Amino acid sequence: MTTTTRTTADWQALDAAHFLHPFTDFQALAKKGSRIIERGENVYLWDTDGHRLFDAMSGLWCVNVGYGQQALIDAATAQMTKLPFYNSFFQTTTPPAVELAELLAEVTPPQFKHVFFAGSGSEGNDTVIRMVRRYWDLKGQPERQVILSRWNGYHGSTMAGASLGGMKYMHAQGGLPIPGIDHIDQPHWLEHGAGMTRDEFGLKAAGWLEQKILEVGPDKVAAFIGEPVQGAGGVIVPPATYWPEIQRICDQYGILLVSDEVITGFGRTGNWFGCETMGTRPDLMTFAKGVTSGYVPLGGVMVGERVAKVLIEQGGEFEHGYTYSGHPVACAVALANIRLMREQRLVERVRDETGPRLAAVFESLRDHPLVGETQSCGLMAALQLVRAKDGTDGRGTPFDPALEVGMVCRGHCFGNGLVMRAVGDRMIIAPPLVMTVEQVDELAGLIRLCLDLTL
Ligand code: PLP
Repeated sequence: MTTTTRTTADWQALDAAHFLHPFTDFQALAKKGSRIIERGENVYLWDTDGHRLFDAMSGLWCVNVGYGQQALIDAATAQMTKLPFYNSFFQTTTPPAVELAELLAEVTPPQFKHVFFAGSGSEGNDTVIRMVRRYWDLKGQPERQVILSRWNGYHGSTMAGASLGGMKYMHAQGGLPIPGIDHIDQPHWLEHGAGMTRDEFGLKAAGWLEQKILEVGPDKVAAFIGEPVQGAGGVIVPPATYWPEIQRICDQYGILLVSDEVITGFGRTGNWFGCETMGTRPDLMTFAKGVTSGYVPLGGVMVGERVAKVLIEQGGEFEHGYTYSGHPVACAVALANIRLMREQRLVERVRDETGPRLAAVFESLRDHPLVGETQSCGLMAALQLVRAKDGTDGRGTPFDPALEVGMVCRGHCFGNGLVMRAVGDRMIIAPPLVMTVEQVDELAGLIRLCLDLTL
């Protein structure tokens, strides 16, 4: 337990003295002081000054069942008491890891019967790279090495994850991307689709994959990876025509399709997995976050039968794995989490109730003078802010992303009890899936208040 007699200022001073936060300007944070979040219940958080916040980001896109779920706490406690750790290397494993593998095969699309566990989404995507290259080696096509992904996609922060990702500010540090990875533009209609309908643009954006395959050489391309809906890039929901056309292109050239479901998995889009919402049949699927609702770290890769058959029947030893692959406490929590999601019909609630309600209230925010485009898919959504509206399609004079959108989120939102995130000219949310319809309305009211304060 932490020492509770400390004041917020004490925590901030200690934090600045010792803790290098991820994705943070250390000096700027030390000047401002961190917000110290102490407690959570349902969709709400409390900081060390006792302020309540509506957590519209589910922590970091992960606390899908909300805070304080006793079933998950009990599962962790029971497993820690019985067996806190044992590995799945060297011909051993543990009951929770096996049971979770079985349950994952049940809730994922039918092509998935096997799982490879990792500790995070980044590790899952590192596994993807090694696995697809191994697959093509075993298939006798070792020249198929190149993995294609998208600019402004996010696939993690390890060398491989950040290389797959298309965040140019990440590539600018540390010698990225690693060799054998190439990027195409994202299916962002507002950015690239002027003069086209969304559907026309979706086909055009998918066509960039085919162009890249032809440029690299079809016999050199191993796989294409993408998030069904780009999350960290700003909740960019692609046109309906995009993913089916991507699937067609992957099929035509025999390329493996990898769906990075670290955010979109486990109900976020109103189906168990985002590929079901977008209509694709991926060969591999990365997951993390929502598998345990973030209560403990766990990630992995669902391996479709096309790849699993080759790895199992022809592969010999796959020289890859992590100490925490199949961690028994993480697996026990994941089992409790998925069972709870089923009992509370959370995926159906997102599909039929809270998702449509969120879409409607975001749509209604378009009457606000600062809101251009809005997009949502299940319980992930974005507001694009504009300084002035030029027309009806959301293309307006943009906000200054660095200054103003951040100010709305970090200033007005935090100050008024709401956690949202600023990405470029967009404000984004991914609230817990346990949210009620009434809480969707509460959230919409808070967002409108923060926008009004910005006028
Ligand atoms: N893939 C996607 C789509 C993500 O959004 C993230 C993290 O946000 C990752 C991978 C990396 O996951 P982790 O931070 O658990 O390594």
